[in-house]
Amino acid sequence: LSLHLQAKMSRPVQARRLEGVDQNIWVEFVKLAATYATVNLGQGFPDFPPPAFLREAFVRAVSGENHMLHQYTRAFGHPPLVKILAEFFGKLLGQELDPLNNVMVTVGAYQALFCCFQALVDEGDEVIIIEPFFDCYEPMVKMAGGTPVFVPLRPKVSGAGKPMSSADWQLDPAELASKFGERTKALVLNSPNNPLGKVFGRGELQLIAELCVKHDVLCISDEVYEWLVYDGKEHIRIATLPGMWERTISISSAGKTFSATGWKVGWTVGPSRLLQHLRTVHQNSIYHCATAAQEAVAMGFRWELERRGQADSYFAQLARELQGKRDRLMRSLEAVGMTPIVPEGTYFLVADVSAFASDVPEAPGSHEPFDSRFAKWMVKNKGLAAIPLSAFYSGPHKNDYGRFIRFCFAKEEATLEAANDILQKWKQEKAAP
Ligand code: PMP
Repeated sequence: LSLHLQAKMSRPVQARRLEGVDQNIWVEFVKLAATYATVNLGQGFPDFPPPAFLREAFVRAVSGENHMLHQYTRAFGHPPLVKILAEFFGKLLGQELDPLNNVMVTVGAYQALFCCFQALVDEGDEVIIIEPFFDCYEPMVKMAGGTPVFVPLRPKVSGAGKPMSSADWQLDPAELASKFGERTKALVLNSPNNPLGKVFGRGELQLIAELCVKHDVLCISDEVYEWLVYDGKEHIRIATLPGMWERTISISSAGKTFSATGWKVGWTVGPSRLLQHLRTVHQNSIYHCATAAQEAVAMGFRWELERRGQADSYFAQLARELQGKRDRLMRSLEAVGMTPIVPEGTYFLVADVSAFASDVPEAPGSHEPFDSRFAKWMVKNKGLAAIPLSAFYSGPHKNDYGRFIRFCFAKEEATLEAANDILQKWKQEKAAP
């Protein structure tokens, strides 16, 4: 018996589906930032609070008369929330949405994505992912047994003296078409795109839509930054294009919409024929998202719906404020010699750092992309944290564009001021003989 008790487990414990997905670059960069950063523009979330009307709604939800808001609610979404989401997104999508069948609430957009891949992707299915991409798509496809197929956005050289914009990063139509085949089950679209801030134009979306229709492919459309678009640019929902409603799942979340990432309230909108399978995954895994948070988000949408198109619309205000922060950070980065790619949307800004090649020690024999070495050097030597763009590429493509880093500008004025101080000091050091 004692021998039995002492015996260590010798069988492999890890499920096969985790093979090759257990590495995560964020762990390393989060740790570096925690150790060295004075200013952290790496983490992709706001350091300012959600709007007062939303916070007050949460307080009312947890301290009000309705004590049922502390209990389980409907699995596929708290009734007041699915109702308002159906009303809100029905208008935007030009569809009559049934709150009980065309909307499902999830634990953030993250779980919405997970449900999509688990519910729709089989062993051997291919899923097209546009690079650079929000990094969880790749492991999620693999865990479902699928094979990610990557296609890059290719930067076009902008006119001399003209700043590069995220709009200059485009798909090559022939290259995109070549990725579609017999095994293609779905394409993941993320517009506005994290990390580049690219807002896909109508022509590009039409190209994607035509290929999806031609090859009978599903579209998983991650639109979490849908309200964060700048310079009068329009966010176009791919589900509104001909032939796309029936094959698209649109995903968004309160995290980005209301600057409340920690609440983890997200949702999917689409035809019931697709959502029914997401419901199966959801019911057998998470079951539902916190009731009080859902109640508060429902109130938030009610507030916003009453102010659509008006000056005090939160969505309009937030975009205005963020555009100012974007422009301010761009000026600070340019001062030190980085070349920003002007983002049309999101709260991320990618900058070319090739001008610093001689500052960063070589790493002979290492395959680590330059941007990754640069980001580590910058946080250790300057106290400023950012994320290398190569983190948003698949393994074999990490060196393709390894000269950019991503900053998040959803930050308080004081944080951006502190970043500017670092960059100004850096500039003076460079100027000194
Ligand atoms: N999609 C993209 C493109 C994101 O950037 C993020 C968050 N960084 C998510 C999804 C996840 O959203 P949530 O916090 O609502 O789970």
